[in-house]
This record gives sequence, C-alpha cells and structure tokens, in this order.
Amino acid sequence: MSIAFEPGAAPAGFIPLSVPEIRGNEWKYVKECLDTGWVSSGGSFVERFERDAAGYVGTKHAVACVNGTSALHIALLVAGVLPDDEVVVSSLTFIAPVNAVRYARAWPVFMDSEPAYWQMDVGKAADFLEKECLWKDGELRNKVTRRRVAAILPVHVLGHPVDMDPLIALCEKFRLALIEDATESLGAKYKRRPTGAVGDIGVLSFNGNKVITTGGGGMLVTNNETLASKARYLTTQAKDDPVEYVHNEIGYNYRLTNVQAAMGCAQMEMLTEYIVTKRRTAAAYDAALSEVAGLTLPRQAAWAESNWWLYTVLVDHARYGEDSRGLLRRLAAAKIQTRPLWQPCHLSPAHLGCQAYHCDVAERLNREALSLPSSVGLRPDEQQRVINAIARA
Ligand SMILES: *Cc1c(COP(=O)(O)O)cnc(C)c1O
Repeated sequence: MSIAFEPGAAPAGFIPLSVPEIRGNEWKYVKECLDTGWVSSGGSFVERFERDAAGYVGTKHAVACVNGTSALHIALLVAGVLPDDEVVVSSLTFIAPVNAVRYARAWPVFMDSEPAYWQMDVGKAADFLEKECLWKDGELRNKVTRRRVAAILPVHVLGHPVDMDPLIALCEKFRLALIEDATESLGAKYKRRPTGAVGDIGVLSFNGNKVITTGGGGMLVTNNETLASKARYLTTQAKDDPVEYVHNEIGYNYRLTNVQAAMGCAQMEMLTEYIVTKRRTAAAYDAALSEVAGLTLPRQAAWAESNWWLYTVLVDHARYGEDSRGLLRRLAAAKIQTRPLWQPCHLSPAHLGCQAYHCDVAERLNREALSLPSSVGLRPDEQQRVINAIARA
C-alpha cells in the first residue's frame, strides 16, 4: 500500500509509518523450508499457519492465500456473490475489497463512515437496505439498479471493529452474506470476539505493513466447512482429479507458499506481544496529544478492542493552524513518514459510476485524517520526536 521501507533500507533518522518487525523464529523456520526443499505450496508450514491463525481468531477453518486481495476475491465467490450482484462495502477503505468485488464481476454500493469511530455507518446501511431496496421472492433488489444485493463487506478500518450486530441482523433478515475485511484488524475484538470470526467469512492480510507479515500473504477464515473446502478448491486451480488433471470449474492459483507460511508461523508466535506494544504506543500518543488544540484523537467504542494498526488523528485546519496535508509535508521534512486515509472509493476514477449512499463523512475524514508512525518497533525516543513535531514543542 504505502512505501514500506525495510528497516535496514530506511535513511538514517527516518521514522517510517509502519514496517515489519522480524525478530522471532522467522530465520529458523524459513531455513527449514530451504534445507528440506519444501518451498512451494505443499508443506507443513502452510497447514500449521492455517491452524495457528484459525486458533487465534477462533474459527474452525482457515485457507491461506497469496494475499488478502485474492482471499477477498475467493470469499465473495464462495459466499455466493454472482455476476451483476451488488455488495455493500465501505467507501473509506484501501481499495482492495472494492477491486475484489469487481473481480467477482459484481458491483459495489459504497457506504459512508460514521463520525465516531470512522467505520462503516451501519445506520445508513440499514436505511439503504430497508428504504432503497425491495424484498421480493426471497431476494433483495436495489430499486434503482434492479440488481440483487448479495452481501455486505464491512472493513474494520485502521484496526477498529465495525459495529457488527446490526449488520448480522440485516444479513439474517435479507439473506445476505456477511464478509469481514479484517485485513487491518488482526487481533482486534468486537464484543470479545476476534474480528474475522464474527461474519460468515473473514479475510486476513499479511502484507508488509500489516500487524504481522509474510512479505505478502492472506487468509480466509470461517466456521463453515462447505465454504472452506470450496475456497481451498478454488485457490488450487479447482482440481477435481489430481492424477488426470480434470477441472470442472475455472480456479485460481492463489495458494500461499510454504516459505511464506514459515515466516507466518514465526510472526504468529509474536502477535500477542505486538498487539500489547501497539496498544502502548497508542496510549502514549493519546496522553501526549490530547491537549493539542485542533486535533481529534482516535476513540475506541465501549464494545471494541482495537489492534491500533495505524494510530490516526483528525486535523482541524482552522483550530490547528495547518491542514492534514500541510502537517504531512512538515513532518516529511522532519523525516517522519505519515499518510492520509485513502481516497474514498466512491470518488475513485477506478470505480466511477458505482452507487454511493450519502458518503459525506468519508469525504471529511479523507480531508482531515493523518496516520502517524505506528511500527511495532517504534522506539520511545522516535515517538517523542513525532509528538514534539506535531505539538510544535
Ligand atoms: C491490506 C488490505 C487488504 C489486502 O491487501 P493485500 O496486500 O492483498 O494482502 C485488503 N483490504 C484492506 C482494507 C487492506 O488494508
């Protein structure tokens, strides 16, 4: 997503936004792959990584994929999203889930963020489904496009969970699939339940700037055995006869390799510690920045435990005396990397013409938000430099 400097490659004194933290058994496990020749998509680390991830989020099944985007694509397919269906998806998100909807030849309907925690506005989602769609013959159809609405795809943006219960109720009422994009929220909890394990299917990412990484990697997690085995089938070229190579469907080459999974197993061993560190980093930002006029700090809902993936503030131009992009440039000059939130997807030239449901909050958040350095390895003296620059101390 952003330029993720490898720690060794970063210029001296440079504080990156988010870089991998590699100091566990990564070398040992990867070496085991190289020494034994088990480097490709077969091998014990893939199975172990799937077991570890499923165990961590508390699902019965997990299917490793080459990245989070491919896992989202497969999640949509196995959830029953068909060509020309519609999927209600957060507008303010990294673009991957929206692209995945299009890979499935379905259409996104963009949903706004709520102003308190910056997640999908589930009240607006309810309004859209109840008022703008029609329930007929066991199907929900968009009144404007006449297309079938097949799924809701909430994104737990920045690691804070979406308010899932109202979405679960809507999905039950209208027979929609509920797919969680938990790629940014591994380790976060919604009402004590790990994100990814709340909906029908959850998707994780192990990209380089996520909480843990395999370089590139992803995972689909679910309690539904049928969905899991279908996903496993589709990610391995839909092979129906492994001897004669008979394929009854078009599949994908989306399986993670054993080398990457080996790294993932080592990273999983560190995950609990990393989340504790990230929470501490967030608390330190909270304490130091709470008195700065014109900044709105991230809040955590009473029912939520964030994983604090990227600590993000809102900058009020008038009260802070500088807008978010001005602050970004000033920090960049001080060798501190920050980043705005993504262009809301309903404004993306890549997805022009798709329906958006009153996404004004997403647009304001995009103007005002800035994510601060949040690497697990961020040292206290580095964080103090960030704080001093922002507080103009
Ligand atoms: C990182 C991310 C993904 C998946 O990204 P990959 O690089 O394909 O693993 C998907 N959705 C969101 C919101 C993300 O931030």
